Amino acid sequence: MRLANVGGRAAVLVEAGAIDVERASGGRFGPDVQALYDDWVAFRGFADGVDPSLAEPFEEGSLDSPVPSPRQVFAIGLNYRAHAEESGMAVPEVPATFTKFPASLTGPFAEVELPNETVDWEVELVAVIGTRADRAAAADGWSHVAGLAVGQDLSERTLQFAAGAQFSLGKSYRGFGPIGPWLVTPDELDDPDDLALGCSIDGETVQDSRTSDLIFDVPNLVAELSAVLPLLPGDVIFTGTPAGVGAMAKPPRFLQPGEVLETWVEGIGRIRNRMT
Ligand code: ZN
Repeated sequence: MRLANVGGRAAVLVEAGAIDVERASGGRFGPDVQALYDDWVAFRGFADGVDPSLAEPFEEGSLDSPVPSPRQVFAIGLNYRAHAEESGMAVPEVPATFTKFPASLTGPFAEVELPNETVDWEVELVAVIGTRADRAAAADGWSHVAGLAVGQDLSERTLQFAAGAQFSLGKSYRGFGPIGPWLVTPDELDDPDDLALGCSIDGETVQDSRTSDLIFDVPNLVAELSAVLPLLPGDVIFTGTPAGVGAMAKPPRFLQPGEVLETWVEGIGRIRNRMT
């Protein structure tokens, strides 16, 4: 099942277009996509039986984030072996975790304002929690995940490494968390633990990897994080970025106004953000 946010209204996507959730459910579910995660099991039951003839065409540019206002956002650093190596860091034994403050999140095709000259890209698989996970076992990790989306963990490197480390703030400028283009449930994917992902700048590929190279994969992240505190429905996990970020290029390269950053994950889709 694919769940989208079409101009602020929750919609189930099918071949022919978008099915408005509130109208198709006769008001049983509202238009707020974020609220659906609080009633995820019931919503899945509705969505799986929805009448595809109710679909209407929609514009790609009208898509907003399928998870616009999570209560908690977890982001993981150094979670691909090759990226830990390019960063000159040891492979971590626990997930290196920070947050992107929720007000920094934005839609899949939003323009992003660059605050300065040291903003970097980070393609990431984003996992969204569907049912509360509290001390979950890794074996049950996927069962707590509503679905997956494409994300960009945009990172302002100067602030990130200022004052010791300011990961959470340097990664939370306005618009620094594009997510989309929609949420895809794990059952739609042949192998949700092995997805190609990457990003390009003005058509030039700068990151190209697979999620099978993750050090802590999605179910292990659910277990590790929920060992510390509960994961709530609608929470977001940015699972980390592979090698190829601009700060580690020789010479370093950062995003410039006017550049278009395109980001993809196999089986999910592509998001596209123009820098201003
Ligand atoms: Zn990241």
